[in-house]
Amino acid sequence: MNNITDVLPLLQEPKKIWITTHHKPDGDALGSTLGLYHYLRQKGHEPVVVSPSEVPDFLLWLPGIDTVLNFESEPKACLKQLQEADLIFCLDFSRLDRIKTMEEPLRQATQPKVLIDHHLNPDVAAFDYRMSEPEKSSTCEMVYDFIRLAGDDTLINNDVAQCLYTGVMTDTGSFRFPITTAAVHEMLADLKRRGLDHAVIHQHIYDSWSAERMRFLGYVLYQKMEIYPRQHVGIIALSQSDQQQFRIATGDTEGVVNYPLSIEAVNMAVLLTEKKDEIRMSFRSKGDIDVSTFAAQHFNGGGHFNAAGGRSQLSLEETVKKLKTLLNILPATSKEVPVSK
Ligand code: 5GP
Ligand code: MN
Repeated sequence: MNNITDVLPLLQEPKKIWITTHHKPDGDALGSTLGLYHYLRQKGHEPVVVSPSEVPDFLLWLPGIDTVLNFESEPKACLKQLQEADLIFCLDFSRLDRIKTMEEPLRQATQPKVLIDHHLNPDVAAFDYRMSEPEKSSTCEMVYDFIRLAGDDTLINNDVAQCLYTGVMTDTGSFRFPITTAAVHEMLADLKRRGLDHAVIHQHIYDSWSAERMRFLGYVLYQKMEIYPRQHVGIIALSQSDQQQFRIATGDTEGVVNYPLSIEAVNMAVLLTEKKDEIRMSFRSKGDIDVSTFAAQHFNGGGHFNAAGGRSQLSLEETVKKLKTLLNILPATSKEVPVSK
């Protein structure tokens, strides 16, 4: 395992560079990969960003998003680019099982693999060069650090700044989570001095909902959110039919898990979403509740201390039951009635 500074000499000559991120990419995943993409292009490289799955609608405005390849819908083109690449960058995930069907091709790829990521418990053996810093707010902050480490501050143009701001903003809940350090604010100040219009980015992400999505949120909070004040837990379980009713698309459930956490009595929130082949789970917590370990131990997942993900192969009903048992929420047949609706 080599240090990230050892990558810098590899970037002295023009290279074909394959950049990827995790399945169901979010603001930090696409902000960091595209931020790096815009930087590397200015250095004379030929980068390509490959996403394991579809890009969500709320990020379609990101500069360069139209160049992103989707492995699910165009695997051949993605594999051809992988074969031709000299170097591979893996951003915003720390274990190869987070990239689903891309895992095998990437494992077999012989080119050097560079990790830039802030998740806990990285799979050290899978990468040749590593920048793994769980104390960082976002992978976008780390790409910013990487560019500065290379002494290339002057290459932080508006495209790079827009992409990197997006991931820091989304991963810190608009700069309010405890992980928002002084270094984050210094980075933001630097981007502002370089001319970034931050208000436009907030508008793109937070004020561009469809009416349908807003009604879906209303339905979810009114009909689907269960609050258990004694256990300090909030649970939302969404079936496929719930999602179909409102024609929910990739990314439309983004942020829903945070709502129960806004309730004073709730210290842990769980969103369960029924997909075609599995139940997807999102965990969020306040303070000293470690949802990353909980997700890893019980739901084949992981992530960060206060924000993690996981999955279950059980039915939606069975998964909710397992979760409630683990959280000491008594079965519905008992006298304990959840406060909901
Ligand atoms: P989300 O609930 O938004 O999908 O994920 C919350 C955080 O946990 C994100 O930083 C995401 O990258 C991470 N995460 C989600 N699923 C997994 C997983 O299965 N394993 C690991 N290690 N991290 C995950
Ligand atoms: Mn992230």
